[in-house]
Order: sequence, then C-alpha cells, then structure tokens
Amino acid sequence: MAKPKKEPIALRHQQEQKLCLNCGFPNRPSDSRCMYCNANIAEDKGLISWLRHTYYVLRWRWQLKYKRDNLHHEPRKKVFRFAGYFMIGLVLTLAGAYFFITSLADSSFTSGLIAVLLLLYGFFTFKSLFSQK
Ligand SMILES: [Zn+2]
Repeated sequence: MAKPKKEPIALRHQQEQKLCLNCGFPNRPSDSRCMYCNANIAEDKGLISWLRHTYYVLRWRWQLKYKRDNLHHEPRKKVFRFAGYFMIGLVLTLAGAYFFITSLADSSFTSGLIAVLLLLYGFFTFKSLFSQK
C-alpha cells in the first residue's frame, strides 16, 4: 500500500515549486492556476524567467519576514512612540496654559507670546499624533 504524499509545501525542495509570475506565490507543480491570485502559471525556461523567479522568491520571502516582524515588534514600538509624543504634547500644552494664565495676571506680552508658541507646539504635536494613521 502506497501512502499518499502529504508533505507541506514549505518543506519541499525549491525546484519542485511552481512560482506564480504574477505575485510570486510558490504553488504546487500540479497546479495550473495560482492559489494566491488565480493567475495562469505558464511554464517557461530561460535566463529571464529564472531571474524573475529568483526575484519573486526573494520578494515573497522578504514580504513574509516583514509581516512576521511587524506582527511581533511594530505594535509595541508604536505604543511607545504614541505615549512619548502624547507626553510631549501634554507638557507643551500645560506649560502653554500656565504661561497664558501668568501672562493674563501680569499682563505681560512676552509671557503671552511664549504661551501662544507653546500651545501651538502642543497642538501640532497632538495633531500629527492623531492624523498619522
Ligand atoms: Zn499568483
């Protein structure tokens, strides 16, 4: 009794894969259409197609690696950056508000100017923080 071959695609040798020339997805040799983008997988040999295959393999791997890295590292980094900018914006706005109140009490023009500048910096920090998505 012969057991059916149930080897996962990733463990197979590279030459046994048929790469899609449209998106670079490694398909099974028996497939005539790409599993990923449903493009026709045509068999052609030569340096150009070899270069294209190599390029798509590299690109596909890079994309997978990029996605993996993003899943593991990016969300945490973003939270830290967000918190950092949020703190800066908060401090600037609070300092601006403080200077604004003192400038009203002393009716000082320079304090008022500093207050306006700080409030503007704080405002733009918040604005860039919430618009960058
Ligand atoms: Zn494809």
